[in-house]
Amino acid sequence: MTVFRALPMAGIYVHIPFCASRCSYCDFYSTLRLDEVGDAYVDAVLAEAELRQQELRNESVKTIYLGGGTPSQLPLPLLSILLSGLGRTFDLSGVEECTIEANPDDVTPEWCAALQQLGVNRVSMGVQSFEDDILRLIGRRHTARQAIDAVSRLREAGIANISIDLIFGLPGQTLASWTESVHQAIALHPQHISAYGLTYEEGTRLWQQRERGEVTEVSEEQCLEMYRILVEMLRAAGYEHYEISNFALPGYHSRHNSSYWDGTPYLGLGAAAHSYDGTVRRYNPCDLKKYISSIKSGSLAFEQELLEWWQRYNERVMLGLRTARGVDVARLREDFGEDAWKHFTSEAQHHIAAGHLRLTEDGCYILTSDGIMLSDSIIRDLMWDE
Ligand code: SF4
Repeated sequence: MTVFRALPMAGIYVHIPFCASRCSYCDFYSTLRLDEVGDAYVDAVLAEAELRQQELRNESVKTIYLGGGTPSQLPLPLLSILLSGLGRTFDLSGVEECTIEANPDDVTPEWCAALQQLGVNRVSMGVQSFEDDILRLIGRRHTARQAIDAVSRLREAGIANISIDLIFGLPGQTLASWTESVHQAIALHPQHISAYGLTYEEGTRLWQQRERGEVTEVSEEQCLEMYRILVEMLRAAGYEHYEISNFALPGYHSRHNSSYWDGTPYLGLGAAAHSYDGTVRRYNPCDLKKYISSIKSGSLAFEQELLEWWQRYNERVMLGLRTARGVDVARLREDFGEDAWKHFTSEAQHHIAAGHLRLTEDGCYILTSDGIMLSDSIIRDLMWDE
């Protein structure tokens, strides 16, 4: 039923699963054991790169993304070994964007100065809030001042593409304090801002604190209002709202993340990393010991899932509607057939009538400003139930 175009390989993701401490809201896979296993881990990632080299089908790599965990915790010599090792395995001469995630307290002058030499040209920093009380409450190690100084240091070192992450709906946050945080973010003039609503993930420290009544959850209405404030303020400041949670100054969309939203294949290396080759998703184990020992023995421990056509359709709809580009309905029909196309276009009708969805001149369905606020339920309606 489905004919897929040959897609260019987007890039390489490397998961660096080390943190100096655990933030109370976080359920990402990471450990505090960098000192013990950092060297063995980098060796394993490079060995995995060799073992999976053919998955890139000789495509030239366009983007590299070091995510975590806290990649800025990796000592510079190890970071250098990692990037130069990748360069020996893959042709990185076409890399346009090489991003590293950082925590503000790791952004020292030495660290900034080393980035350019290592070929890193974009830093994505987990600022989360400019309120020190809240930062302490959620277990972040940095202060607002450190975040502000980190941006200056990166600029002074010549990093011209800086992204900052913010979280709204944090306990203790008010509409006024959130507005102030967004003001502060804009004042730093980063090229890119990502903002996510807090979710209480089961089992996290913050989730337990809420269960014990020690923190109060911000209401859904307030969270929506915070999001509305964010969107309005960033648009007024010249940022393009190109994905539900992502905003960029013109020309500074995250190329690596955009390829995830386009459904373009990528190779994920390291514990807990995911990969996608256009039809198959592969998931590396969320277990450092298992990951390192399997790679050491020359085998790959990933689990894989061959996506059914309707799972790919659902991903296309969900990821497409999250972006400003929307869902190209002619391509949807071509790739998934008449039934899927009919389902999408008929379900879309009442959302169009309600002013939550619109069809652009070039045949793409996109969420309107009001629709963005209801994105979850609209996307659910347009999905295919198997
Ligand atoms: S630094 Fe990032 S990955 Fe590590 S615990 Fe905090 S939020 Fe999670």
